[in-house]
Amino acid sequence: MALAFDEYGRPFIILREQESKSRLRGLDAQKANISAGTAVARILRTSLGPKGMDKMLQSPDGDITITNDGATILEQMDVDNQIGKLMVELSRSQDYEIGDGTTGVVVMAGALLQQAERLLERGIHPIRVAEGYEIASKIAVDHLQQISHKFEFNATNIEPLVQTCMTTLSSKIVNRCKRNLAEIAVKAVMAVADLERKDVNLDLIKVEGKVGGKLEDTELIYGILVDKDMSHPQMPKQIENAKIAILTCPFEPPKPKTKHKVDIDTVEKFQTLRKQEKKYFDDMVQQCKDVGATLVICQWGFDDEANHLLMHRNLPAVRWVGGVELELIAIATGGRIVPRFQELTAEKLGKAGLVREKAFGTTKDRMLYIEHCANSRAVTIFIRGGNKMMIEETKRSIHDALCVARNLIRNNSIVYGGGAAEISCSIAVESAADKYPGVEQYAIRAFADALDSVPMALAENSGLQSIETLSAVKSQQIKEKNTCCGIDCNDAGTNDMREQNVFETLIGKQQQLLLATQVVKMILKIDDVISSTEY
Ligand code: ADP
Ligand code: MG
Repeated sequence: MALAFDEYGRPFIILREQESKSRLRGLDAQKANISAGTAVARILRTSLGPKGMDKMLQSPDGDITITNDGATILEQMDVDNQIGKLMVELSRSQDYEIGDGTTGVVVMAGALLQQAERLLERGIHPIRVAEGYEIASKIAVDHLQQISHKFEFNATNIEPLVQTCMTTLSSKIVNRCKRNLAEIAVKAVMAVADLERKDVNLDLIKVEGKVGGKLEDTELIYGILVDKDMSHPQMPKQIENAKIAILTCPFEPPKPKTKHKVDIDTVEKFQTLRKQEKKYFDDMVQQCKDVGATLVICQWGFDDEANHLLMHRNLPAVRWVGGVELELIAIATGGRIVPRFQELTAEKLGKAGLVREKAFGTTKDRMLYIEHCANSRAVTIFIRGGNKMMIEETKRSIHDALCVARNLIRNNSIVYGGGAAEISCSIAVESAADKYPGVEQYAIRAFADALDSVPMALAENSGLQSIETLSAVKSQQIKEKNTCCGIDCNDAGTNDMREQNVFETLIGKQQQLLLATQVVKMILKIDDVISSTEY
C-alpha cells in the first residue's frame, strides 16, 4: 500500500497487486471483524464456570492437551485470523497480569462485540459505540470498587485465602481435591511471601510433576526436589543436618591430555597401577571427608570403584545432577559450586536440615528431597497424577490458584463470583445510562447487556434456564439490595455467594472489564481491512 497525491494535492491510496488483494471497508469490515471475534469467544463460552466443559487440543505432532484454562485453549488453538489473534492476546494479557479469569475476559469481549454489531446495524457510528463503552467500563470499574469487600487474613489464619483459591480451582478438572490443592497453593505462597512489602515472588515456587500416584498425593515441599537417587543402593536414605559438597569435577583419576600408553607386562606393575588408582579415589573421598561433608552432589558420574569406596567410607553421593539443578541446590543451601577437589573448604558446603530419598510405587522411581535449606525460602509443589495430561492441567490450575493468592496478598479486596459482581455492575451501568443525553446512552445500555452474558453463560453451562435464572437473580439483587446474589451453579440451594464462599479478587475482575473494553474498542475502530490473501 502506498500513499500518493494527484495533481491537485489530494491524497489517494494505491494498492499494489490489486487482483491478489482483498479489501473490506466500512461496515463490512467491522462486521467481518466482529464475527471473527465472537467466533473465538463462542468457543470459550462453554468452558466458563465450575460446570464448564474442557477442551481437547491436538498439536501437529500429536500431543494432546486437555484443559479448561482460557489462555491455554487459545494459545494452542492456532488461530489464523488477525482479529482472532487479538482475542488470544487479550486472554494472554489477563494471564500475565492476573493469572485467573482468562476465560471470562474473552467471553466478556465477545459479548461486547455482539452488542456492538446490533448498534452498528442501527446506524450508530462505531466511534460513538466505543466512547459509550469506555464510559460504561469506567462506571462498572468504579462500581466494583464500591461493592468490594476487604478480606482479612494473616499468617496464622489462612482459611479465607484457601476459600478463594478453592473458587478458582472449582472450575477445573482438579475440582475433586480442590481443598488439598488450595491449601498447598496458599501455604506455598505464604512461605515465599513478603507480607510487609505485600509482595510475592512466584519464581521461588517451583512446580514439579511426576506421573504416578494420585492427585491426593500432591505435596508441598519446603525445599527442592531433584529427580535423582543415591548412587549406591546401600547408602543411607536419610541424612539429617546435611553438609553438602557440590562438585563439578568427576570422581576419576586424572586423564593425561596427551596421547599415552601404559605398558603392563608384569603382575607387579599391574598392582602398582591398581594401588595408584585406588589412592586417587581415596584422596578424593578423604578431601571431602576432611572438610566435613556428609553428602556429595556431583555433576559428573563416577565408576563402580569410586561408588563402592564412597559407600564403604560412608559418604553418600548423588551423581549426574544437571547444571540447572546444581545451581538451584547451591542457591538454596547456601553452598558454592566447587570445580576442583583442592578448592573444597568447609565454608563452601551447602547446608540442609534434611535430605531424604523417597521411592514411589513399585517402580524403581526415586527422588531426592532437599528440605529445610539454610538460605532460601524456595518451595516446591510436587504434583502426582494418573497421566501426563492430568499433571499438566493440574500445573495450570495450581498456577491460577497461586496467582489468586498472590493477588490477594497484594490487594485484599474481593468481589463475589458466580456472576454476582457482573449482575450488580450491569444494574449500576443500566441506571447510569439515563444520565447521558447523547447516543452513547445506547452503547452504555449495550454494555450492561453484555455484562449479563457472563452469568448467563454460567447458568447455561450448569444446565439452568439462562434467561429465567438471570432475571430471577437480578430482581433479587435489586429487591434485597444484596450484591452477593449470583448463579447457583453447583445447585447448593442458595444463590448467596457469600454463603457459598465464591469470591474473586477485585483487581482481577476490574482488569477483565478494562481489558475486554480496550480490545473491543480497538476492533471497532478498524474500518478498512486490506490483506494480500482472502480475508
Ligand atoms: P476463568 O478462566 O475466567 O477463571 P473459570 O472457568 O475459572 O474461568 O470460571 C470462572 C467463573 O466461574 C467466575 O465467574 C466464577 O465466579 C465462577 N465460579 C467459580 N466457582 C463457582 C461456584 N462454585 N459457583 C458459581 N460460580 C462459580
Ligand atoms: Mg478461573
